[in-house]
Amino acid sequence: MNKIILKPGREKSLIRRHPWIFSGAVGKIVGKPESGETIQIFSAGGSFFAVGAWSPHSQISVRVWSFENLPIDRSFFISRIKDAIAARVAMFSGCETRLNACRLIAAESDGLPGVIADRYGDYIICQFLSAGAEAYRETIIDGLQEICSPAGIYERSDVSVRQKEGLSERAGILCGDAPPEVIEIVENGIKYAVNVRSGHKTGFYLDQRDNRRAVAVNAANRTVLNCFSYTGGFGTAAAVHGATHVTNLDSSQDALAMSDKNMRLNGINEKQYSNIEGDAFKVLRELRAQGQKFDLIILDPPKFIESQQQLFRGCRGYKDINILGLQLLNPGGLLFTFSCSGLMEPMLFQKIVADAALDAKREALIVGWLVQAPDHAVSMNFPEGFYLKGLQLQVR
Ligand code: SAH
Repeated sequence: MNKIILKPGREKSLIRRHPWIFSGAVGKIVGKPESGETIQIFSAGGSFFAVGAWSPHSQISVRVWSFENLPIDRSFFISRIKDAIAARVAMFSGCETRLNACRLIAAESDGLPGVIADRYGDYIICQFLSAGAEAYRETIIDGLQEICSPAGIYERSDVSVRQKEGLSERAGILCGDAPPEVIEIVENGIKYAVNVRSGHKTGFYLDQRDNRRAVAVNAANRTVLNCFSYTGGFGTAAAVHGATHVTNLDSSQDALAMSDKNMRLNGINEKQYSNIEGDAFKVLRELRAQGQKFDLIILDPPKFIESQQQLFRGCRGYKDINILGLQLLNPGGLLFTFSCSGLMEPMLFQKIVADAALDAKREALIVGWLVQAPDHAVSMNFPEGFYLKGLQLQVR
């Protein structure tokens, strides 16, 4: 087997069982490993540390498959997939009739770097995001088929991060039946239509499941403004749980059409909701100018920060929308505000929202700290897996 030898002192992260080796830590490459090929990793002193996937085009040169000197073969993948599925079965035991969509494999956090698998009803939607994941795609698909017996497995690797690994984008049916374009799922007893072929991520923001429930339990008799609503995940949950009126706001007409479909699926009266198509930064200013107020506002923007260079600008963006959101709340109103940028530290986010409250001249209490749902688990050795954070504020 080909191998790499790390530069002196660069085994520290491996001692902590972190699964990434950056290109700057690689001292010597022994042999000529191909992209995605399994290699052994040794310290400069010659001690064995791990086996992982070689990725010559990426800044992350190696993603570790195992810290034991195991063969990386079919039985390795079967065992990792089984562990990941068993963890989800345990997380959701007792919820089976109210929930049929969740993340089955959360990449690095489940010991399968670059591999995402989400369940939507009878179908599995996959992403292979790293050279190693790509190299073993057939084995992984086979393993999922054997362990989960889905009606079909569909790929949504049409994402730009693949470029960093020297891989082109791809999507399509992998095995079994092609999923219908729109799959109806159930989450916390609420029905959602999900377009798994063209929707964001693998179709739906499964990571917000528990936060949608937090909104739902607070929605009764409140007017709700759901900003960056996508297909109306939060808005539909609020309407089902008795919100007097829900306004979904998004820049995408297709997303808003789907949120209407979701309202109808759950039998919500047309009078109980409306949509605004537009740029939230502009629309929120217009609503403020009109003197509009709401009792509950959700701010769930897309990732504003993709790299360290975007941090400052991203912080400005978060502060701006939070000022507007706070100013649009009635006294006693609730703000559910999120950041899905992994580079935004939770305490920095809290500080930005606190600054926003000062500027908005609104006093607010933090009454909840919100995070990604448990099926988007974070390995203790891979803190990068934690990305979604939010605050529930009650304004005076
Ligand atoms: N809250 C959603 C997920 C939001 S994803 C859920 O739980 O399902 C972010 C959404 O923001 C996308 O639907 C995207 O179309 C929308 N968006 C991006 N930029 C926007 C902008 N400037 N104004 C309004 N919507 C925007």
